[in-house]
Amino acid sequence: MIVSLKPDADAGAVKQQLVARGQWVRSSLKGPDGRTSGFVLAAHSAGISAAELASIEGVASVSAPQSEHPRIDAMGPEVLVSGVSIGGAAPPVVMSGPCAVESEERIQGIARQLAGAGVSFLRGGAYKPRSSPYSFQGHGEEALKWLRRAADANGLRVVTEALGEPDVPLVAEYSDLLQIGSRNMQNFALLKAAGRAGRPVLLKRAMSATVEEWLLAGEYLLVHGASSVIFCERGIRSFDDSTRHLLDLGAVALLAHVYKLPVIVDPSHATGRRDLVLPLAHAAVAAGAAGVMIEVHDAPEHALSDGPQALAPADVRDLFPRGGAQ
Ligand code: PEP
Ligand code: MN
Repeated sequence: MIVSLKPDADAGAVKQQLVARGQWVRSSLKGPDGRTSGFVLAAHSAGISAAELASIEGVASVSAPQSEHPRIDAMGPEVLVSGVSIGGAAPPVVMSGPCAVESEERIQGIARQLAGAGVSFLRGGAYKPRSSPYSFQGHGEEALKWLRRAADANGLRVVTEALGEPDVPLVAEYSDLLQIGSRNMQNFALLKAAGRAGRPVLLKRAMSATVEEWLLAGEYLLVHGASSVIFCERGIRSFDDSTRHLLDLGAVALLAHVYKLPVIVDPSHATGRRDLVLPLAHAAVAAGAAGVMIEVHDAPEHALSDGPQALAPADVRDLFPRGGAQ
């Protein structure tokens, strides 16, 4: 933001007032006479309205750069998805299930173990984004039906991914929360199609996306009709391969505390190893996450995808005890 001063203003006194309000003065602007004519405030300054700053004695006007994502900015910290509050003052939500929906029997068994233990959403891919075309690609529509039946039988909601535009209508029909995977965060045709479904969307961050690009992808969804957007941090690319990706908890805190948006953390895909999933789930909530998405499997050694990062269903029971079952 830029704070412009009246010609007779006491620049030092105004600067003091700005600092007292948590504003970081990045630089001063000089008029033709060499006097201080204004201040440029850093983006990470405390979130205060321009009107409040304009009321400081000696301030002539306050101008803010136009945001590129006004709908996201206006969204608020809490959204409701099929009766479950996510973000804001709501207790942390747990979304859990296998990487892929492998069979009806298996997803029913896993859902039974997750029910009534603080888990609100059953996850599982019917359409899988796999690096290799030879890897298991998901069971498609059949898997959506198995997932929905397993969730309904156990009082859970469904979150699952639409991999391409043609999947959107079916995924919207069978899910409560439509997931856009990290590899598709900037697939703008898919974002438009997902938005047109008019449903809540879980938008995973692409592994090389800036926070601004992520917010803009959310704006695409809202512009095209999504009822709400929940962001999901799932790790970004780094130089270090000791974990699968680098969980960016700084971005989580930024979204939660500065932008005041609902953000879920997926420590399973971020780390790729089950021994780090629970510590990072707790760290995520401490950083401001509205909840976590965690992969589980009843026989990880036989999982068709992502076995090494899968926990046992019992491991996520009562993860956030005060969060309670929703
Ligand atoms: C998933 O959640 O199933 C998935 C593929 O995750 P990501 O898009 O974050 O890789
Ligand atoms: Mn997975």
